[in-house]
Amino acid sequence: MDFELSPEVVAYRERVRRIVAAHNTPEAIRVQHETGTFNNPALNRALAAEGLIERAVPGLGAGDPIELWVLFNEIEKAGSPVDALGVAVMIAGVVQHVGNDRQKAELIPAVTSGEALICMGYSEPDVGSDLSALTTRAVRDGDEWVINGAKMWTTMAHEARWVILLARTDPDLPRHKGLTMFLIPMDTPGIRVDPVHTMATERTNATFYDDVRVGDDCVLGEVNGGWRVMSVALSFERGVMGGTNPGVPLLEHTAAWARRSGRLAEPAVREKLARVAIDNHVAALLTQRSAWIAASGGLPGLEGSMTKLFASESYQKASRWFQEMAGAEGLLQLEQPGAAADGWIEYDARHSPVTTIYGGTTEINKNNIAERHLGLPRARR
Ligand SMILES: Cc1cc2nc3c(=O)[nH]c(=O)nc-3n(C[C@H](O)[C@H](O)[C@H](O)COP(=O)(O)OP(=O)(O)OC[C@H]3O[C@@H](n4cnc5c(N)ncnc54)[C@H](O)[C@@H]3O)c2cc1C
Repeated sequence: MDFELSPEVVAYRERVRRIVAAHNTPEAIRVQHETGTFNNPALNRALAAEGLIERAVPGLGAGDPIELWVLFNEIEKAGSPVDALGVAVMIAGVVQHVGNDRQKAELIPAVTSGEALICMGYSEPDVGSDLSALTTRAVRDGDEWVINGAKMWTTMAHEARWVILLARTDPDLPRHKGLTMFLIPMDTPGIRVDPVHTMATERTNATFYDDVRVGDDCVLGEVNGGWRVMSVALSFERGVMGGTNPGVPLLEHTAAWARRSGRLAEPAVREKLARVAIDNHVAALLTQRSAWIAASGGLPGLEGSMTKLFASESYQKASRWFQEMAGAEGLLQLEQPGAAADGWIEYDARHSPVTTIYGGTTEINKNNIAERHLGLPRARR
């Protein structure tokens, strides 16, 4: 692989950095932490105004495909939220690859203008890792599909214009072959969104589908081909589109606090900061490898698992170390007087645990690596 970025990509990165720096304001951060909605609409629109979102959509942009990674890595390293825009861009890429003309015409400009978000309706109350067991049903009725079921953890459903929903369309086929992906407007009658607030600050949702009627034009990809559509989306999510360098802003906040407070004089503090800096660098290189594979036309399924596993586990370790190091001040929250690292240590200690769950748990990623890289026997048929 080639770690060198072309001059065009370096110029793209500079433009992204400038816009992110201008929009990652204290007010934007305050709103995200108050609402739990990890989105910065002003940033999305500013990036869109310069064409920087369109360039990053897989298969669409005129830019180097590596710009997908550059965009989200820069947003994440600045400590700005990647979740909402990340999912929207990823799904725009999937629609670009497998969507019909109407889906492309409606969704892609809405995403590349920074206006529309999309949520993912895969997980259910009883189904997460083993998605092929999902029970949400889509049943044919004349020209329409009638969808009934419940989804869990539908992050951004309260702001999204569309949901991509995985539903069972043929219960007689083997489990992962009878699933279809639908792209459904969130204002379709029969959809309900209930908030779920997490310890990680981030708000997510439970969503309910009660006799939701949609036409064939809402099928994304092939009928009973939903597994393939989901796999493409997931392989981008794991390791390329953010979620792999949250340790960077944590380290910056903590190092600045250690300097201000005089704690930097302690060898144990310096050692922990150095170890986290090394882990952050390894995570960045693993991410860049996944991104390079994706940008060269491959699907970094295995490499994405390696990246996600290493990055989320080391982020968790870093926030634990820093909280132990900070003592009682590490338990104080953002904006509380005396909080270590202005409260970021406390926030990251609550946020890092969920990063080993969403987008594929640590155990699932370990299974993936064990089977596909080490050639160990399958954990499950
Ligand atoms: C904050 C947050 C946001 C999320 N956002 C979304 C979203 O927007 N859309 C969406 O569809 N989903 C979302 N998810 C759901 C997420 O993808 C699932 O939580 C995750 O896949 C795990 O599924 P589960 O919660 O059902 O746990 P389970 O799959 O029940 O797992 C429970 C435990 O068993 C382990 N385990 C399961 N299977 C195996 C196995 N084969 N081998 C070894 N260990 C195993 C797991 O690692 C875990 O420790 C979100 C989750 C969170 C926490």
